[in-house]
Amino acid sequence: MDRIETPDDTDLASHYAPLYERVQHRISPLDWQLYLPSIDAIRRLKRERNAIVLAHNYQAPEIFNTVADITGDSLALARLAMNVDADVIVMCGVHFMAETAKILNPTKTVLIPDLAAGCSLSESISPRDIKLLRERYPGAPVVTYVNTSAAVKAASDVCCTSANAVEIVNAQNSDTVIFLPDRYLGAHVAGKTDKKLVLWHGACEVHERFTGAQIRSYRAPGIRVLAHPECPPDVLAQADFVGSTAAMSGDIRSSGATRVLLITECSMADNLAVELPNVEFTRPCNLCPHMRRITLPKIEQCLRSLTPVVEIDPTVMDGARRALLRMLA
Ligand code: SF4
Repeated sequence: MDRIETPDDTDLASHYAPLYERVQHRISPLDWQLYLPSIDAIRRLKRERNAIVLAHNYQAPEIFNTVADITGDSLALARLAMNVDADVIVMCGVHFMAETAKILNPTKTVLIPDLAAGCSLSESISPRDIKLLRERYPGAPVVTYVNTSAAVKAASDVCCTSANAVEIVNAQNSDTVIFLPDRYLGAHVAGKTDKKLVLWHGACEVHERFTGAQIRSYRAPGIRVLAHPECPPDVLAQADFVGSTAAMSGDIRSSGATRVLLITECSMADNLAVELPNVEFTRPCNLCPHMRRITLPKIEQCLRSLTPVVEIDPTVMDGARRALLRMLA
């Protein structure tokens, strides 16, 4: 393994002092000392490998704010990476996100620091389930949320995000649409379209834990409540705004809210707080265990060894790409 020389601890601390100033309210001085060697090594390795690091909004602040080149939701990450002149992409997110990055960037090497970073929603459905649904509802198009595996995307007609789901469903030339796999996002979309939706029983283990009673207990004058549409209906009923991670972030900026209850994976509030220091974020904290599998030492190791590589069967790749491109079109 090639070792990269690093300056001593004092040099590192002073070199990265401006960076720490930005994140000091989210990362303790003790943790910063522990993180610095990996942060420094990752930044050097990125240059050596001509690599970029993509970090999902739910990544921990020490990753999101210090080593990421592109941040955002899964589709935005994969799309933005298409415009970057890099040989290697490191996806700091879960496996389906790395697959999406590979599908949209087939000539680049896509790495994920921990291959076991899965997702309860993605794992709730298989291509065989879609085949059975097609047999039960002949002719109904299959609209699939991007939080699914490449194989499930390939078995679908078109993908959607939480931001464009209603638009994509309405664009289908059929009164009945099979909408997969999140039952809560599906119920939210069903309330905004005249189409009959056939739903699946999948759910995100982070968002389904929120409850309406919990949100009511946090309600206070002047607080703006924003919720992700993967939350149950009684939670969405309490929200002032429902939208994707990108839409929630946009709403905080455009509404001028100074007190925000953000009902989604709680690292997002930590990351937004770095950019918006004048906004007070409060929330019940639900962390995604799969996102937490990605750590600075694993990113460093991944860049040193250029493994694990995300590979997709060529037939699956073509089908998944078709479903994604149909959405983008
Ligand atoms: S937050 Fe939910 S949808 Fe996102 S990766 Fe975790 S389990 Fe999957």
